[in-house]
Amino acid sequence: MREALLNTKKLQNFIDGEWLEAREAAPVVNPANGETIVDVPLSKGEDVNKAVLAAKKAQKEWALVPAPQRAEVLFTAGQMMKERKEHLSKLLTMENGKVLEEARGEVQEGIDMAFYMAGEGRRLFGHTTPAELPNKFSMSQRAPVGVVGIITPWNFPIAIATWKSFPAIVAGNAVIWKPATETPIMAFELAKILEEAGLPKGVLNVVYGKGSEVGDAMVHHDDIRVISFTGSNETGRHIASECGKQLKKVSLEMGGKNAITVMDDADLDLAVEGIIWSAYGTSGQRCTAASRVIVHENVKEKVEERLLAQIEKLTIGDGLDESNKVGPIINKAGLEKIEKYIQIGKEEGAKLMAGGYVLDNDNYAAGHYFAPTLFTDCTADMRISQEEIFGPVISLIPVKSFEEAIEVNNGVKYGLSSSIFTTDANRVFQAQRDLDTGIVYVNAGTTGAEIHLPFGGTKGTGNGHRDSGVQALDVFTEWKAVYIDY
Ligand code: NAD
Repeated sequence: MREALLNTKKLQNFIDGEWLEAREAAPVVNPANGETIVDVPLSKGEDVNKAVLAAKKAQKEWALVPAPQRAEVLFTAGQMMKERKEHLSKLLTMENGKVLEEARGEVQEGIDMAFYMAGEGRRLFGHTTPAELPNKFSMSQRAPVGVVGIITPWNFPIAIATWKSFPAIVAGNAVIWKPATETPIMAFELAKILEEAGLPKGVLNVVYGKGSEVGDAMVHHDDIRVISFTGSNETGRHIASECGKQLKKVSLEMGGKNAITVMDDADLDLAVEGIIWSAYGTSGQRCTAASRVIVHENVKEKVEERLLAQIEKLTIGDGLDESNKVGPIINKAGLEKIEKYIQIGKEEGAKLMAGGYVLDNDNYAAGHYFAPTLFTDCTADMRISQEEIFGPVISLIPVKSFEEAIEVNNGVKYGLSSSIFTTDANRVFQAQRDLDTGIVYVNAGTTGAEIHLPFGGTKGTGNGHRDSGVQALDVFTEWKAVYIDY
């Protein structure tokens, strides 16, 4: 299977339109079966320097290409991604573990983003404004920032990259992209597509390697004017403080502790379907995964019963086998973190109703699998109700009222996604106003992005910027005021 999908055993950096070997490399392991798929370069700071030199040169010319023509490259890339969707999806499942159905959904997001940003190339609107004085013309327009650095996580290896790189490219920037070393294949495939679609050399550069080496060199490079980062809270805070010292613009998308609220007037079957998909899809390793379920006490037992019935039906295993609904955890460290939280949950007095263990029998021994887990009778202040576990674990918290549900929902340090299931129209409007998250869903789970909407979170999830949507352009452009006296 590997050979049929990927005809190389070693990935290369893509710098100035050339595919370059690095001196060191590390194996990329399929989390479903422990097999090595390919080797990824472990680059050094000098590789970043080389890429930035190329990007600086390329950006000057790229910025002069009319935006609709820049957009055409993305349109062609979108068409190629569409043609290669099945191939990309299988590779994505192989490197990341998410089941094929979800991989297809993620690749589709990338395709949508290509067409959406291609459209933005025909807009990139500024404003004209009436001047204070006669014979003056005043306007504001978007200008590219220059060379931008993109640092992405392993859990959405292609979608997040397109949310960042496509607006950057259409706005006339050149990009240095450091993908996560766990999932470098999507970067390799996307760079090939953009090269074939006609992107001039040096406009996109991919430099693989460790965060502490390549990421750090990007963050500290004087000629990289913006860092757009998605990843953990710890890394994001570190990057933000380093960028702060240099007055470098930084966009951060970090963790979540997302909740689904089920009111006593909700369609319970719909709610349970939303919970299962949001909590256990991608084995809970989505930034928007539902890891808290806040349930009105009047329907608590019914929701628990229905959840347990659905959990029993979940089939777990290699995502390339389409009969499986839940795939593996990315690596051993991820598995151990989940195990640690199971222990914490038990010690805190939560009731373990399902799962709570690593699947390590003969069927699973080679991969990293964790049983879908349900803790009930949780309180809002338990660590399992407050901290990001990044695994298939639900903390179910009973509440007595709508007001308490909103308070519990908002009572965490993160603010990415939230959802409420209710049939009361007033509560729908109150909830969309009062839930303190960047994304609010009503009668749907907490996951799934609409790429034409701004994506991101409040509080500890981010720093006010957004990926995707037209708002993503704000990260990769500067507003320039122009005043003409005639
Ligand atoms: P991570 O922070 O470990 O790594 C993210 C990226 O940062 C990787 O490319 C990594 O190599 C790089 N990096 C690590 N240390 C660095 C440093 N010192 N300097 C520069 N770069 C460095 O995160 P992860 O484990 O890959 O991803 C999981 C996390 O990402 C979760 O917390 C999840 O919630 C979050 N996430 C957030 C969103 C969102 O939009 N809010 C989306 C997806 C994932």
